[in-house]
Amino acid sequence: MARFEGYYQAEVVAAGRVTPNMMRVRFGGSELDRWISSGDPDERLTIAFPCPGQRTPPRPRIAGGAWHFDGCAEPEQRSYTVRRVGNGTLDVDFVVHEGGFASDWATRAEPGDIVGLSEAGGWYRRPPDAASVFLIGDATALPAIGRIVEELPVHVRAHAVIEVASEDDVQELPSAADLTTTWLTGSGMGRAPSGLPDAVRDLTMPGGGAYVWAAAETSATRAIRKHLRHDRGLPNSAMSVIGYWRAEKEAWLQRYEPAKPAMRRRRAALEATGLTGQDLVEAWDQEMERAGL
Ligand SMILES: Cc1cc2nc3c(=O)[nH]c(=O)nc-3n(C[C@H](O)[C@H](O)[C@H](O)COP(=O)(O)OP(=O)(O)OC[C@H]3O[C@@H](n4cnc5c(N)ncnc54)[C@H](O)[C@@H]3O)c2cc1C
Repeated sequence: MARFEGYYQAEVVAAGRVTPNMMRVRFGGSELDRWISSGDPDERLTIAFPCPGQRTPPRPRIAGGAWHFDGCAEPEQRSYTVRRVGNGTLDVDFVVHEGGFASDWATRAEPGDIVGLSEAGGWYRRPPDAASVFLIGDATALPAIGRIVEELPVHVRAHAVIEVASEDDVQELPSAADLTTTWLTGSGMGRAPSGLPDAVRDLTMPGGGAYVWAAAETSATRAIRKHLRHDRGLPNSAMSVIGYWRAEKEAWLQRYEPAKPAMRRRRAALEATGLTGQDLVEAWDQEMERAGL
């Protein structure tokens, strides 16, 4: 998913708060005419931000499916979800949090600011015969959940469990489907342990035909994935569980950097076994846990 072929410069055309801890930035510009949506309702893209003192991020060379920047030091890049796309513009909702480069950029964003965007792709794969859908996520997954429920057909039953920083961060979620929601406030979001794993354990799921999409902080999604696979016995095709961010990322990176070469070898060895999907993700999680990561 981190591999891409395209790079599109986009310009901020509007920016404002959706709720106290969520900024919405609307991007436009002539290069967006060439940008093609993957059509996945959870489609994510990479945003490259300008280096300090510069107005635009440097244009990368694309080689081996990755961006290689010449000139200024490699710009900061982060993953975000396309909340809405159409009419030559694209909206991204940024969670506002302490000490985040992208979060700080979004709170200061003004018309005319420039970023680089990759093309997009997502993981949401509801089997056509799944009559009920469970959507689990923290505020970083709210843009995807909002778009997923907007696009759900009328006959589907959906339940969303969403963790946000405060009651004022709860959003209206229009949907044609039969949608119920549970909002968790005061847990997770880097301020406290996430309440999502316990909330998922408490869910009543119908015997067959349920699909679960979950995205949140990585330790929460690890716990959710284990529970769905081992306690509930859900098959791979019935779930997409994705880690979106890491709490205390700086401390994690300090532990990860020295282990990086060995972890890369282990990753290649795992991929060579032919594991795919959530099987591969869980096997990788186990490797990471064994390495204290
Ligand atoms: C596929 C995908 C889609 C995503 N879509 C969205 C989206 O639509 N909207 C969105 O807001 N995020 C989304 N994210 C998550 C986002 O990429 C991360 O939260 C990212 O780390 C934010 O970058 P930053 O520069 O603000 O913070 P960083 O510089 O990465 O981190 C700085 C500090 O903040 C902490 N931190 C990071 N994110 C959060 C957070 N959300 N809350 C509290 N503390 C945090 C880190 O642990 C670190 O200590 C998505 C991630 C993925 C993988």
